[in-house]
Amino acid sequence: MNNNYTTIIGLEIHVELKTLSKMFCACKNDPFFAGKPNIYTCPVCLGLPGALPVPNRKAIDWTIKLGLALGCEIPLVSKFDRKHYFYPDLPKGYQVSQYDMPFCKNGFLEVENTRDQPSYNRMVRIRRVHLEEDTGKLLHAVIEGKKRTLVDFNRSGVPLVEIVTEPDIRSGSEATAFLKKIHRIIRYLCISDADMEKGSMRIEPSISMCRKSDATSKSRPGLDYMIPAYRVEIKNINSFRFVRKAIDYEIKRQRELLYRGETPEQETRGWNEGKGITVSQRSKEEAADYRYFPEPDIPPLRWQQSTIKTIQSTIPELPDAKKKRFMETYDLSDYDAEILVETSQLADYFEECTRAAQKLMPDTGNQDIKQYQEINPKSLANWIINRKINFEEILPARLVTQIVQTKKTSSIDKGELEKIVAQVLVANSKAVEDYKKGKEQALMFLVGQGMRTSKGKISPESLKKLIADSIIRRKEQE
Ligand code: ZN
Ligand code: MN
Repeated sequence: MNNNYTTIIGLEIHVELKTLSKMFCACKNDPFFAGKPNIYTCPVCLGLPGALPVPNRKAIDWTIKLGLALGCEIPLVSKFDRKHYFYPDLPKGYQVSQYDMPFCKNGFLEVENTRDQPSYNRMVRIRRVHLEEDTGKLLHAVIEGKKRTLVDFNRSGVPLVEIVTEPDIRSGSEATAFLKKIHRIIRYLCISDADMEKGSMRIEPSISMCRKSDATSKSRPGLDYMIPAYRVEIKNINSFRFVRKAIDYEIKRQRELLYRGETPEQETRGWNEGKGITVSQRSKEEAADYRYFPEPDIPPLRWQQSTIKTIQSTIPELPDAKKKRFMETYDLSDYDAEILVETSQLADYFEECTRAAQKLMPDTGNQDIKQYQEINPKSLANWIINRKINFEEILPARLVTQIVQTKKTSSIDKGELEKIVAQVLVANSKAVEDYKKGKEQALMFLVGQGMRTSKGKISPESLKKLIADSIIRRKEQE
């Protein structure tokens, strides 16, 4: 029964750019400032009559940077448009956005879907990436016993990038895989925190279903489906997990309607996490209702090919390329490489560790040479991943010496280890008694004695644990 329908999903993703100032004025861009509402405002972002917008060059460059990272074409001419609608968080009565000439178009992102079995890759086309301004924020409160709605314009005019995909996504798990990937790219580009919880990344999936038989008989060439007569858009989802749940719920709901012979309504719905359902919010307005027209206060923008090249040159190595390089250069598994490229910071840390290991390599003849020779990128990756190393706490060189110490300890056989610990405890019974009474310093003294007895072959960390355990064991036997 399930196989009669194909699910068609497109995504609209809004991302707040973390430029220092807002999109069309010099106000501070700090939408999450919790202290005071309406302090980062001016006539431009409050929408006062006669105020003139000045576009933020950095925000435009970053939008193009993102577009290039997503394989988009950058048209050499672009412009801003006014998108009209009425809402209390939009004082001008229109949002400055881009209509028919976005900064970037026709990109793509390939997604590996490992959740569905067997796993497969899906090419998701990016229709456009454009730039607009964020709105103010409504706060609902009860003041003096009355329900009131307050408006905070700190967020008004914050640069907002909108990414629109073609309806190429076919399941909730594909949508999440796509979103995680795009999220990672945005973080690599350092253009936004893309924090879904805070609202600096917001997702709106559109979901509809069509019969597979329709798909084969009426589809456009190269298209595996016929565009359905309706589209359900889901707003206000603030986590990757909820996106997936909302899509899965919608698929089930729409399929049931279709099997009963009904066509789902074209509408906007919201996700209710408490109940685990989507709820109808309003029937969808058509694009024409926005009465788009060119923003008369901002002239069209023209690009030199060289400017685009310069922006292109600021794009760092992106996660996919990095992963591939890690697998080839360091012989890492797909799994390990995937974890290490999760953030550019972790990836950099891993590479710094491999360099530190080379740099610290002692001369031949040194007693530690064997342990150093055993350290390779693969074992380093395992250490970092399995022990969940916090790269902010342990410097690369420190990690390498720690590994060497541990290797040395494990190269001593267990009997020998126990003999050394026993020797230390017997020879220093006073310190043992002190430690039993709670003197932590006594333990450090014993560790020092152990280091001397073992001639530095055991790391202080492991000695500390061995001695403390041994004393506790003996105490229990008493
Ligand atoms: Zn302002
Ligand atoms: Mn938008």
